[in-house]
Amino acid sequence: MIVLRGLEKRFPGSQAPALAPLDLEVAEGELLVLVGPSGCGKSTALRLIAGLEEPSAGRVELQGRDLSGISPERRDVAMVFQGYALYPHKTVAQNIAFPLEMRRVPAAERADKVRRTARLVGLEDKLDRLPGGLSGGERQRVAMARAVVREPRVFLFDEPLSNLDAKLRTELRVELSSLLRRLGTTAIYVTHDQAEAMTMGDRVAVLDGGRLQQVASPREVYERPANLFVAGFVGTPAMNLWPVTIERGRAHAPGLDLPAPEGLGERATVGFRPEHLHLGEPSDGEGDVRGEVRAVESFGAETLVHLAPPEAEATPHEASAAGRAALMRARLPGFAAPTGPTRFRIGREHLLWFDAESGARLEGT
Ligand code: ATP
Repeated sequence: MIVLRGLEKRFPGSQAPALAPLDLEVAEGELLVLVGPSGCGKSTALRLIAGLEEPSAGRVELQGRDLSGISPERRDVAMVFQGYALYPHKTVAQNIAFPLEMRRVPAAERADKVRRTARLVGLEDKLDRLPGGLSGGERQRVAMARAVVREPRVFLFDEPLSNLDAKLRTELRVELSSLLRRLGTTAIYVTHDQAEAMTMGDRVAVLDGGRLQQVASPREVYERPANLFVAGFVGTPAMNLWPVTIERGRAHAPGLDLPAPEGLGERATVGFRPEHLHLGEPSDGEGDVRGEVRAVESFGAETLVHLAPPEAEATPHEASAAGRAALMRARLPGFAAPTGPTRFRIGREHLLWFDAESGARLEGT
């Protein structure tokens, strides 16, 4: 449906490109999430697709047609921003109707479409209100409805939920994904929130520093991150990442004694998710993780244990780093209250290995 070919953006006066040449394909009906930290180039990518920005190189194709030089209005894409950009003196109905008026859709058809779209997003009893009299979530629904009513070939979302409080954001996230699935319209969704990316996307494209790091299903990105950046970015609490030295098939660092796969060399970085650590002695073939409990956070359903490496094993530098920040996290079910020196085991299948220099995940590990 959408193909980006070597799409690149350099702003005058800056050394690094805002977006390094990006190649990406989005299938018809797919919801692709572009995710990454602030400044990674995700909004730039979206604005290039919308036609609000000219690429420095490369192009955007929509259903095989090159969009270069085609104005935003004629691209048949509808964009929803984080600021809702509603007309304050128009009612909800008039706001939703606006794109249809611009296209000179006859009044009767317009009214019918506005009613149907308002019902779709749960605004049918708010049609006569002004935006000032709506909640943040309702305003976001109006913005959505105004995009939906156009029946575009593609939706482009730029952090549409980021102005809302956490609870509402979670609710609208579910609403929005089910609406998009029902409509079946292709969509590209930009967010810095990895939880939105994981829960909403058919696929997730992770960007950092203007460069695509990985594009894959949420599950693949979570379980098989392409490199250290993706590993650290996706998942809360974050994956434990630890530099290790490898000797005779075992990987070591203060508190860690792990079975290492063959062919790793002398140094690597090991990664493992907090939920894969279990209290207790490791059995044969499992990894051994020991540490001093520095803090315990119980959330009810789970407990997060923050561990520092055993003091006796840490170098002075590591011990002082451990004093500043909890270095390792374990996620235990329910309420748990480990204290003092504590031992965990981890299955070797849950260990991921990354190249010490490049940070790339080592295939087959
Ligand atoms: P955020 O989540 O903060 O919006 P982002 O990932 O969407 O970040 P972009 O807005 O795409 O990032 O910006 C990417 C880079 O390009 C940043 O370094 C930014 O400073 C730069 N940039 C964006 N727009 C312009 C502009 N009009 N002129 C110059 N530099 C720009």
